[in-house]
Amino acid sequence: MANVILKGVTKKFGSFTALDDINIETKEGEFFFILGPSGAGKSTVFNLISGILPVTKGEIFIGGEMVNKLEPRHRDVAVAFESYALYPNKTVYQNLEFPLLAPIRKSQYTAKEIDKIVRETAELLHIEELLDRLPSQLSGGQKQRVSLGRTLVRRPKVFLFDEPIAHLDAKLRHRMRGELKRLQKEMGISAIFATPDQLEAVSMADRVAILNKGVIQQIGTPEEIYFQPANLFVANMVGDPKINIFRGSVKKDGGVYYLCHKDFRLPMDKSAEKIVAGRDLSGDIDIGVRPTCFRLSNTKMGEGDIQTRVSFMQRMGDSQVVKLDVGSFTFTTKVDQSVLYSIGDTVWFSLSGDKIFFFDPVA
Ligand code: ATP
Repeated sequence: MANVILKGVTKKFGSFTALDDINIETKEGEFFFILGPSGAGKSTVFNLISGILPVTKGEIFIGGEMVNKLEPRHRDVAVAFESYALYPNKTVYQNLEFPLLAPIRKSQYTAKEIDKIVRETAELLHIEELLDRLPSQLSGGQKQRVSLGRTLVRRPKVFLFDEPIAHLDAKLRHRMRGELKRLQKEMGISAIFATPDQLEAVSMADRVAILNKGVIQQIGTPEEIYFQPANLFVANMVGDPKINIFRGSVKKDGGVYYLCHKDFRLPMDKSAEKIVAGRDLSGDIDIGVRPTCFRLSNTKMGEGDIQTRVSFMQRMGDSQVVKLDVGSFTFTTKVDQSVLYSIGDTVWFSLSGDKIFFFDPVA
């Protein structure tokens, strides 16, 4: 188990900068996530850590050792991909023991130790009943676990998970998330997980680095990136449904602060005043309001309530997502199901809470 440090790491492909001055410091035993859209540079980070690609600039440390010049096989890093092919003619047991028979590791273990590691890993993954089966006799989820097992048996210093469960069906993906998190904690492994899926990151990570176009946008716990997004990109990336963003300003009128847009003005809740007090937000700014920060009613509740109609509605477990058109803007709200709304219903709505963020306008 070891931590990983990337210090001022830049990677160029020709004149294209894929990663720009990346600084990450993971902790031992931490489940660290890199969250970013396709093309952000996640796989490139992994290729640099595992040594498949050289850095253009900067230093990489694994367990305190600078590894820039170390060959991949000496870095003791295991990468789990989704498409980790199993050997079709080998049993699950043989597939699991295979990485331990590689020349570089063979001398490290006796046959008895290899047997112990294989059986312990199978037990952790709940596949101990399947050890004599061939891959063709396994379900998709079972194959996935054997694949993962082949990475786990190596007991490397660091695990890199490169979107390992991205294409599983929703139910299995949900289960694998839980299992991976359990395994990571039970085995106390240091792991970095790359994903474009914000839900995966916030539900599994100890900390998350958000990457966009090769630049780190923010590093923090899931709570920090959700409740204190550093910029518009992070606010947009994290949260489901997506945050409401509109260009506007904050103005005070009769002792009340309003979020102002050309088509509406929304009075702010008293609880939110602390986030605007003492700040000049009267110029053009980008305003972000989480969907959970609204109160809806089928009667008028307060002076500043806005009246509109429901343009979209979706039930989600114990909550509902309700969209409301106001002029040129569509609000997305997420409220409980104490009153059920339908498309076309007249509603009054107002702000409720302080999940409101202000960002310098991006052109
Ligand atoms: P995805 O989620 O789609 O796998 P990613 O975040 O892993 O994306 P990378 O594969 O790291 O992104 O790619 C980052 C950027 O670097 C992309 O714009 C990609 O086109 C570019 N890139 C990656 N490898 C090379 C290469 N060998 N030569 C040139 N450009 C490359």
